[in-house]
Amino acid sequence: MNIRIFIAVALLFISQSIFSATTQPHIVILATGGTIAGTAANTTQTSGYKSGEIGVQTLINAVPEMKNIARVDGQQIANIGSENMTSDIILKLSQQVNTLLARDDVDGVVITHGTDTLDETAYFLNLTVKSDKPVVFTAAMRPATAISADGAMNLLEAVTVAADPNARGRGVMVVLNDRIGSARFVTKTNATTLDTFKATEQGYLGIIVNGTPQFETRVEKVHTLRSVFDVRNLRKLPEVVIIYGYQDDPEYMYDAAISHHVDGIIYAGTGAGSVSVRSEAGIRKAEEAGIIVIRSSRTGNGVVPVDKGQPGLVADSLNPAKARILLMTALTQTKNPELIQYYFRTY
Ligand code: GLU
Repeated sequence: MNIRIFIAVALLFISQSIFSATTQPHIVILATGGTIAGTAANTTQTSGYKSGEIGVQTLINAVPEMKNIARVDGQQIANIGSENMTSDIILKLSQQVNTLLARDDVDGVVITHGTDTLDETAYFLNLTVKSDKPVVFTAAMRPATAISADGAMNLLEAVTVAADPNARGRGVMVVLNDRIGSARFVTKTNATTLDTFKATEQGYLGIIVNGTPQFETRVEKVHTLRSVFDVRNLRKLPEVVIIYGYQDDPEYMYDAAISHHVDGIIYAGTGAGSVSVRSEAGIRKAEEAGIIVIRSSRTGNGVVPVDKGQPGLVADSLNPAKARILLMTALTQTKNPELIQYYFRTY
């Protein structure tokens, strides 16, 4: 090749790469562990493996296709199975996301997380992130070492959604299995299958078709920028426990919560939050001790309606685990039952 043509082509190539590097959206991946960072002993093992084994840079290196979409870099927040996630870590995560999104040079954040409690962390960020830039959770159901591992495609799709300007202002999202879910509504519905994240009543925000996000709906519930909750300078979240309702459920679970001086109790109630005579006695005793109690439903769907004859406040359509997240967050700013009930109706 003529030397001049060679130099011209080389300069064009270099200037194009510089141009695309500076114009690509900048997405930061915050890794917390889970199956997406998990390894198993063989390619067919999909349970009983070790989660939280692989570091964030290895995750990023495994999906070079992300470079076509965004400038991606990573930070390791934790490397644990999400059954070991704590309120201290989710508080730190929320603060780090707020710090990153306040920067002009960050366009969105992707968080990798174990699927088991992903919906709790995602909902906490939905309540406490002070930005309309995209925040996208992703995960995997199969460890990285399995045949047809789902983590790489889920990560690529999560980055694709986070890099899409149309993803702004939709609240925190959960992207797995080609679906875009709202953190307010989706939850893990199956212990082992890939299509586990669902919101039976509300569906999805959208889908990803051949690498392109296609949004279909928006959520009405208050989130992110419109949320009144601000935990950016908070050191500790209040303690809230969940007590399950079932035949013969004993009153002494409430005595234990009261003697541990918890700040709140979620009752994972039968049906529409109905209470046995024993749990009713326990809830009334907890309320007398100044503890806020929320009645939710263990059924997984539907709304627990306000019933003046029953003790406690109600969780609206939040599952017990997410009701716990909202009560912890609400208690950072008020103990007023009317205001807390208002938050449960609107967030
Ligand atoms: N129990 C692990 C966790 O929640 C693995 C589940 C998963 O990530 O799919 O992190």
